[in-house]
Amino acid sequence: MLDHIDIEVLKGGSALRRQVRDFVETETFHRTPETWDSFNPDFSRKVAAEGWIGMTWPKRYGGGERSALERYVITEELLAAGAPVRAHWAADRQIGPILLAAGSEYLKELLLPRIAAGECFFCIGMSEPNSGSDLASIRTKASKADGGWLVSGQKVWSGYAHRAHYMNLFARTSPFDKESRHKGVTQFVLDMSSPGITVRPIYNLANDHDFNEVIFDDVFVPDAMLIGEEGDAWGQVSGELAHERAGAERWLGTFGLLTALIDEVDAGIASGDAERIGRVVAQVWTLHRMSLSIAASVREGADLPTVAALVKDMGTELDQAVPEVARAVMTESRRLASPTGETFQRILRRSTLYAPAYSIRGGTREILRGIIARGIGLR
Ligand SMILES: Cc1cc2nc3c(=O)[nH]c(=O)nc-3n(C[C@H](O)[C@H](O)[C@H](O)COP(=O)(O)OP(=O)(O)OC[C@H]3O[C@@H](n4cnc5c(N)ncnc54)[C@H](O)[C@@H]3O)c2cc1C
Repeated sequence: MLDHIDIEVLKGGSALRRQVRDFVETETFHRTPETWDSFNPDFSRKVAAEGWIGMTWPKRYGGGERSALERYVITEELLAAGAPVRAHWAADRQIGPILLAAGSEYLKELLLPRIAAGECFFCIGMSEPNSGSDLASIRTKASKADGGWLVSGQKVWSGYAHRAHYMNLFARTSPFDKESRHKGVTQFVLDMSSPGITVRPIYNLANDHDFNEVIFDDVFVPDAMLIGEEGDAWGQVSGELAHERAGAERWLGTFGLLTALIDEVDAGIASGDAERIGRVVAQVWTLHRMSLSIAASVREGADLPTVAALVKDMGTELDQAVPEVARAVMTESRRLASPTGETFQRILRRSTLYAPAYSIRGGTREILRGIIARGIGLR
């Protein structure tokens, strides 16, 4: 499924890595290992100015017509550096590809150049209070109106809905029918400044405001903002979720903590601790190679949903293991003896609070394992 690829297939990969490292070095963002999921529009515009948003898209839509492997190198380096890429993340990772595959010419021309310029940010409106894993059971509905649709219902866990310009909204346009539960669902581009939208914050375990609940009270969406065919968005959403699951962010969530841990224990480490750290470093390397293989096989039309689920499941396991290893290795006495022990503790605290969510967002572990089982013929 995941063919070995020669890293040298990416000609100029090292030069590209150097370019990103130089770029993040000169940037003034508060560079700590915890910042990659911070929402920073100024930073996103600078990334765009480098040509690093929409970089695989056609030039006529503001893209760079570069390869998936080049994009992979850029995103991996930005994430590993803890660069605050969250503002443009969803639009670059999954909305652009969906619009290119299924969007009308109008939507492509309206949105893709602005996304590529770092001026247009998206949130994702899939989950609802009673529909997460079973996405087909959504109740938010869009009813036909003159020249468009009226949306009513509720979404939940919508990351940065309070700052995004648009939501990629998943709604029912025909009543639920259990015989054909994947039919009658439609995707829309919803302008978040439309009348009738209420966004309420939900504070996470770390007391940060990232996700929200979003309530729609007869919100008007013009016909032109419908993506693809009415009632036939299930395949689009599955493709979108594969993009959401396959990226390096699925195993670089606690990379900053891991590098901080290695710096802390650099001098004098017991062999048991070295083994613990060695195991997670080996997993990082494996996932790096798997993600690179996915980027390489995208152009050959690989079975993305299955391999994406595999990477996310393994990546989550790694991301949740790193704080445990860090707690075991970085004993109280070691921390007190370290001049940077307090900073390390802050990073560890944050990673510990964020890690439980990693195996839920973008699809829970059980759901991913079901997809993998089907993909390899076990279901
Ligand atoms: C940090 C974070 C950010 C998120 N961001 C967004 C966002 O921006 N937009 C958005 O739309 N959503 C977002 N989500 C929501 C996320 O997609 C859902 O939480 C997820 O799909 C699970 O749905 P649920 O919470 O309703 O849990 P449920 O689906 O109710 O699952 C509860 C438990 O039951 C298990 N389960 C459910 N079905 C099965 C089954 N068939 N077989 C075996 N076990 C099963 C699950 O694995 C889980 O353990 C985010 C979630 C998190 C944690």
